Amino acid sequence: MRTTIVLAVSAILGATAFIRAQPPSPKPADELFRAIPQAANIRGYMQRMSARPHHVGSAYTKDNAEWMLAKFKEWGWDAAIEQFDVLFPTPKERVLELVEPTRFTAKLDEPVVSVDPTSGQKTEQLPSYNAYSIDGDVTAPLVYANYGRVEDYDQLERMGISTRGAIVLVRYGQIFRGVKAKIAFEHGAAGCLIYSDPKDDGFAQGAVFPNGPMRPSDGVQRGSVEDLGSAAGDPLTIGIGSVPGARRTPINESPVLTKIPVLPISYGDAQPLMAALSGPMAPEAWRGALPIPYRLGAGPAKVHLKVAFNWDTKPLYNVIAKIPGSTFPDEWIVRGNHHDAWVNGANDPVSGMAPELEEARALGELRKQGWTPKRTIVYASWDGEEPGLLGSTEWVETHLKDLREHAVAYLNTDGNGRGFINMSGSHSLERFLNGVARDVTDPETGISIWKRRQAATIVRGTPDEKKDARERPDLRIEALGSGSDYTPFLQHAGIASINISFGEEDQDGIYHSIYDDFYFYTRFLDTDFAYGRVLAQTVGTAVIRLADADVSPFEFTNLADTVQKYGRELKDLLSRKQDEVRERNRQILDGVFAAMRDPKRPMPAPQVEAVPPAINFAPFDNAAAALADSARRYERALAVSRSKVVADAAALRALNARLRRAEIQLVDDAGLPRRGWYRHLVYAPGFYTGYGVKTVPGVREGIEQARYDEAEAEVVRVARALTRLAALVDSASADLEGLAK
Ligand SMILES: [Zn+2]
Repeated sequence: MRTTIVLAVSAILGATAFIRAQPPSPKPADELFRAIPQAANIRGYMQRMSARPHHVGSAYTKDNAEWMLAKFKEWGWDAAIEQFDVLFPTPKERVLELVEPTRFTAKLDEPVVSVDPTSGQKTEQLPSYNAYSIDGDVTAPLVYANYGRVEDYDQLERMGISTRGAIVLVRYGQIFRGVKAKIAFEHGAAGCLIYSDPKDDGFAQGAVFPNGPMRPSDGVQRGSVEDLGSAAGDPLTIGIGSVPGARRTPINESPVLTKIPVLPISYGDAQPLMAALSGPMAPEAWRGALPIPYRLGAGPAKVHLKVAFNWDTKPLYNVIAKIPGSTFPDEWIVRGNHHDAWVNGANDPVSGMAPELEEARALGELRKQGWTPKRTIVYASWDGEEPGLLGSTEWVETHLKDLREHAVAYLNTDGNGRGFINMSGSHSLERFLNGVARDVTDPETGISIWKRRQAATIVRGTPDEKKDARERPDLRIEALGSGSDYTPFLQHAGIASINISFGEEDQDGIYHSIYDDFYFYTRFLDTDFAYGRVLAQTVGTAVIRLADADVSPFEFTNLADTVQKYGRELKDLLSRKQDEVRERNRQILDGVFAAMRDPKRPMPAPQVEAVPPAINFAPFDNAAAALADSARRYERALAVSRSKVVADAAALRALNARLRRAEIQLVDDAGLPRRGWYRHLVYAPGFYTGYGVKTVPGVREGIEQARYDEAEAEVVRVARALTRLAALVDSASADLEGLAK
């Protein structure tokens, strides 16, 4: 035993001596990169960019774009501004008044807060409104409809309350505001008011601004009500770039504007309206935190809503900057964040844009030290994200062919805060992203940002999430729905995409209000910009690794595992629906509804429904299983032949070309049912949720919306896509196996 130990020790000493004798090996570029970003610079960029309101078409938006352009050039990038002209309405008239049974005129104004220096820039601020609401002038009884989801209207109907011809008052939350407007119209409403309830976004969450970070009583959430579940981008040029001479749809024929007038309001303005409602009490879960009873109406509150807009065309200024690649110049890594805001936008978007700029500076520094990326790097700063992902969508639509040929991946951020990393995106990049997160250090705890996220999931996750976080080698990343600029890349063009942010350790109630500014951000959010710096380190690391990898770091076992998980969810969804309908039908036929109905308060009787039919999931299951096999084969083949393929320039080029085309196999250019702009068959925003993702959307929404034949046809279409991807992965494996011989 003793001898063995002595031998082992001398072996270690020998090895050490050998290593010492070698010249120090150069650090990898991503490690050198991570030392460069500075919190103070990020703070400086934010102060500059959020100094004045900078919404689409404003003077300061152009000023910011030109300033960024100069910065990119100063840091050695080849940069230019690419302009598009888009429809961007701004308010001409906004009136909201209670006309019966008492009178009240809504303020529709966010007051200046004396300690907050930029809150007083009144002449440059956009008033509170929802972009792409149509003009309208309606007077109608008011109905409270909770979050304005389809199920909320179903419940109103069961309680015998009609929204036909009414103005509905709905609260923000749960689903995208544009979808609230669409659902309100589909339920016959004449107008829609969307307010921030203090229970979700106000005093029930904590002290309100300026004493705390939560929404004050007159704070209003602006925002787009474009029908983003149907398509993104300029409402007049859906599916094509809005370049000079592009064919524009007449405004009144655009399919993505609302069909009824919509206005966002504060809880200060909502309370008198709500207090004037009578009718039944709202169900327990519908009640917010206003100190009044929550009643449903309809009436006797009657409301007059008038909105009129300037339907102007405005220029967008996208800043596009490039570093050409040395080895694979025709492969592009694209990275973006938007720069337009609703008002000053320190948090949304500048807390994501400022770290992107610091990455750009750091990449410039690395180049001065002699580094050149193998692939071309494209950094974008998008304009017009807020009204409807306009800048990114017009750019993607304009350059669709080139992007599909050259883009390897798109990396997005959109704002940032303190806390844990949130990772979402294409599951073919899940392992890659986990690798990045393992190598970045959390600034406050000194452990990796990966370890912190794992801990948070173990503490807060569902039982399944906990188990995965403990046992699965990689943390699961979320699938992407919509709500930021990755949408045109992933769901329209079929380019693998990821989205990253930090958060969950801070709170704010200033979203899309005049108080989202530098004063607020530096008091309540990432106040020392430690997480701005770590965002730049994380995304920059991912960019460098994607740009410099010999073999593009896609892998498919995690994707296959995720797709199989979706398959189980879909079967569960169908069987739960079948059980629900069977149980309700039984209750109706057994007469329990009739027996329990209150004769003094008659409710509409529920109707017997057809039980959802069985759906044949076999094509999906078979294709997903085949993809899992192909994924494992590729993993083995690459492990065996990696050094050979790296040494063979033609083989490497061919392999990377296949990997670049992996994501697009999941796309069908015919698009999803009733929304052809969305073409990805695995990821889409929900037609009735907007931001929230619907995975395997054709099948899932087919089941949810009781279109069972369509769901069954979509199973086949998704199976074909998975089979296409498996075939592509198999050809890559066959090439690698050929090299091994
Ligand atoms: Zn944003």
